[in-house]
Amino acid sequence: MKKIVVPIKMVLDANMRPRVKEDGTGVDLSGMKLSINPFCEIAVEEAVQLKEKGQAEEVVVVSIGTSKVQDILRQAMAMGADRALLIETDEAPEPLATAKLIQAIVGEENPDLVVLGKQAVDDDCNQTGQMLASLLDWPQATFASAMQVDGDTVRVTREVDGGHQTLALTLPAVVTTDLRLNEPRHCSLPNIMKARKKPLAVTPVAAYGVDLTRRLKVLSVTSPKPRAAGRRVTTAQELVADLRAAGAI
Ligand code: AMP
Repeated sequence: MKKIVVPIKMVLDANMRPRVKEDGTGVDLSGMKLSINPFCEIAVEEAVQLKEKGQAEEVVVVSIGTSKVQDILRQAMAMGADRALLIETDEAPEPLATAKLIQAIVGEENPDLVVLGKQAVDDDCNQTGQMLASLLDWPQATFASAMQVDGDTVRVTREVDGGHQTLALTLPAVVTTDLRLNEPRHCSLPNIMKARKKPLAVTPVAAYGVDLTRRLKVLSVTSPKPRAAGRRVTTAQELVADLRAAGAI
């Protein structure tokens, strides 16, 4: 195949403790470390592996966000992506608007395959890949744990309740990645240096003429209740009594 497009999102780093904004409208990202969404990193790794196996000629990464998002686009290029597109906006778009913007990129780039993360771990929406496939009217396979390209077909194994399901999709197609698909590589210093010279095109979101009107209203965001401290028991009877008292058995 000629080209794979991989949309990637920047999210709060998984090692940071989320802090809810005082007005309860979301997570406060000021001063926090931001990183590539883990499922997007897996998507980049898979696309780069397909290229290394000679099954794809070019990998293009795209992100919608502020200019800060260039960091993860450079990281993806250090992993092996060939070039990057930044659709610049200060407003984080909802999944439908994101899918429409990626649809516009697909119209320009004409890829054979779009590989997305199954979900972005900030909002856990798990919507963009499905909406994109629907907008494009392309076949889709979500939650891929294995992928194999064979001519104009991609075989995707999905982990479903009680086993595995394998689907054969005719390209062009949309695939979303699950955790077990691969283990993303660490970027070597020479590759980080090389990535600095790879092309990164920045376009303002307005250039795409996509309706970004918000359709969802966040009513509240709250932190999980702190967990009560544990208690060490000395006998099995004591454990059973405690579990009974807690209503667990
Ligand atoms: P979501 O539907 O928000 O859980 O996101 C699923 C996937 O859509 C992510 O793993 C990315 O591949 C893609 N995606 C979501 N938001 C963006 C964004 N702002 N820029 C690029 N890709 C995105």
